Amino acid sequence: MPGRLIVLSNRIPTEGPPSGGLVVALHELLAERGGLWIGAASDFADEPSETFQPVAGEERYEKATFDLTEDEHADYYLGYANSVLWPLCHHRTDLLAMERRYADGYRAVNARVARMLAQIVGPEDRIWVHDYHFLPLALELRRLGVAARVGMFLHIPFPAAADISALTESDEFYQWFAAFDLVGLQTEADVARCLDAYRRHPSGEMLLDGRVKLDGSIFKVRSFPIGIDGKTFADIAKTPPAHDPVHIRADARLILGVDRLDYSKGIPHRFRGFSTYLARRDPCSPRATLLQITPPSRESVMAYQEITRELEALSGRINGQYGEIDWTPIRFVVRSVPRETLVPLYRMASVGLVTPLADGMNLVAKEFVAAQDPDDPGVLVLSRGAGAAEQMTDALIVNPYDAEDVGDAIEKGLTMPLEERRSRHAALMEVVRNTDIFEWGNRFIDALGAVKKPAAQMR
Ligand code: UDP
Repeated sequence: MPGRLIVLSNRIPTEGPPSGGLVVALHELLAERGGLWIGAASDFADEPSETFQPVAGEERYEKATFDLTEDEHADYYLGYANSVLWPLCHHRTDLLAMERRYADGYRAVNARVARMLAQIVGPEDRIWVHDYHFLPLALELRRLGVAARVGMFLHIPFPAAADISALTESDEFYQWFAAFDLVGLQTEADVARCLDAYRRHPSGEMLLDGRVKLDGSIFKVRSFPIGIDGKTFADIAKTPPAHDPVHIRADARLILGVDRLDYSKGIPHRFRGFSTYLARRDPCSPRATLLQITPPSRESVMAYQEITRELEALSGRINGQYGEIDWTPIRFVVRSVPRETLVPLYRMASVGLVTPLADGMNLVAKEFVAAQDPDDPGVLVLSRGAGAAEQMTDALIVNPYDAEDVGDAIEKGLTMPLEERRSRHAALMEVVRNTDIFEWGNRFIDALGAVKKPAAQMR
């Protein structure tokens, strides 16, 4: 009898209908295939528990949570996951927070989750692990003798070998990935970096069938570029909004940025790019306002507090220099906006400015394209540091570090002839259709089912 699907992710929807692209996609996959979805509980526990807590629900699959104490959350989640692995994978080794207790807390939580999983997993089950919160999970499961197939999808970039060596735990880092049967990455560039890193490792070996061997572990690495539910976005976008969400003047143009408040998103660089555009702008051309929507995130991590202050100062300076009585060039909004408001904004915008310094994929780029009116579409300006740039080659691709390059692309986007906008949009829409999130999930699960069983390997 085929086994069940077990999905492990940092967060799971515990109340109300699921929202957000990935969460909805995983929900639908599990509803179709059945199985179990496990994630961290939203409230802190006094003591760590050794069993999962079932979550009641109406779904056709089961849900369960594991507890975290406040200390574990500080060391495992805010510490190692978000102050070590996140900067590491986004080329910011200068921001690595080297605290021994972070690594210890990270290992301990993963070992505990693995112990709980080992109690319930069957040999034919497939375990699909999501993201950098759970890198040691397969290694811990193997230590406990679990023979089920275990796959990892890393949503963020795979780091370069030189960056990995900045980790105190770099040896473990290689072992963590090698213990999975399948490692899914966003792009071909990520796959190339991963293979390169294992090639350089003294014990790394490339097998003839394309898999990678490290000591006794063998794993397969492949790209699975994530996408969005493009049809839903296009459908919402076709419905006219009840009111103009930004009250923008009829003769003005909207440039839109939508990013979590994160140093990897390059928002200060973007503001400087917009400033070079403003400096060179023909005063007779229509005014363009940059609306930057920025939900706060990880506010207790120091590096995130600094960026807020930097952006407030920068937007104030640029508005002071270029603003007029009836025009504020940058509107910097530090709050989250629901999808129903975001989609009409995407559609109204003449330019979508997506310029992260480094990003696993960047779903905003795909959402922006899906929400456009194909007859009169806006232009996507996309950083070459975003995973999306590997597929979305018909966007205006920019170097996010180069303010003049970004300024030029804004100018080009605002003045692009209709024919060119249409043809670029049609090509980009093809990419959005080809990377549908539901197909993405099925592709990963099928690929995991197809890998050779670990018991048949040398381990
Ligand atoms: N988003 C949102 N409201 C906001 C800002 C962002 O719902 O105010 C959503 C956005 O639609 C997208 C996701 O958050 O689906 C961001 O995903 P992305 O891959 O661009 O970046 P991440 O935050 O995962 O690094």
